[in-house]
Amino acid sequence: GAGADPLLRVESALMQFGGLKALAGVDLAVRPGTIHGLIGPNGSGKSTMMNVLTGIYKPTDGAVILATAGGTQRLDGRTPSEIALSGVARTFQNVQLFREMTALENVLVGLHHAFRGTIVDAILSTPRRRREEREARERAMAILEFVGLGGLAQVEARNLPYGKQRLLEIGRALALDPVLLLLDEPAAGLTAPDIADLTAIIRKIRDAGITVILIEHHMDVVMGLCDRVSVLDFGHKIAEGGAREIQENPKVIEAYLGS
Ligand code: ADP
Ligand code: MG
Repeated sequence: GAGADPLLRVESALMQFGGLKALAGVDLAVRPGTIHGLIGPNGSGKSTMMNVLTGIYKPTDGAVILATAGGTQRLDGRTPSEIALSGVARTFQNVQLFREMTALENVLVGLHHAFRGTIVDAILSTPRRRREEREARERAMAILEFVGLGGLAQVEARNLPYGKQRLLEIGRALALDPVLLLLDEPAAGLTAPDIADLTAIIRKIRDAGITVILIEHHMDVVMGLCDRVSVLDFGHKIAEGGAREIQENPKVIEAYLGS
């Protein structure tokens, strides 16, 4: 809640691509249990920030710090899989699913880290292995139900309507059991009813205690969901505050009108 120490802190993040500073020294503090919006015109550095937070890009300079009950740790400089195991999960701006796999199998892929069995367990199909597989299946089904896909578990991802594919991606990210979930334009290309479903699920995720960073262009989605919003423009943070005050901020209006 208010006043709580941030779950995630970004300090002076610099991400340089040749002569271009996609992030020109950005500070960010995300409080636990909130939905934190990250907005800004096209090319302002939002996806770059996601990629820095998840280890896809190694920042040129600056620090990314995650502080959970388990302790405080630096994320910058670590690999994407290390960061995922620390509890930071994401979806991508473009859908990235295993298209030939069913919805259930896509979530099971996200769960594979939960298997603690050895290679011998796998080869011999030991009782331990069979029990773990059954538990993983049950968890995957529970996650599918949570994102409203319980009835579509056996449908191949490529045969799901686009809106459901986006929800499946979120389900797969939830399989990591994250403390922080990053969503990069989840409402892009969705119909109004799909956006309503998505909005309800993002709120449910926050209410389950998972902190969310939401990149989104649909301002009504941002306004309806975000506890706090940071605004990027040309790699700089130009404003930050509650959703309503951000919408009325002259710098923000100018950045959007100029784009
Ligand atoms: P946004 O998500 O806000 O639309 P991005 O973070 O994707 O913006 O991009 C910010 C800027 O960084 C853009 O000018 C983009 O062209 C540039 N950029 C992003 N990734 C790379 C990369 N891998 N190599 C070179 N330039 C990049
Ligand atoms: Mg982007």
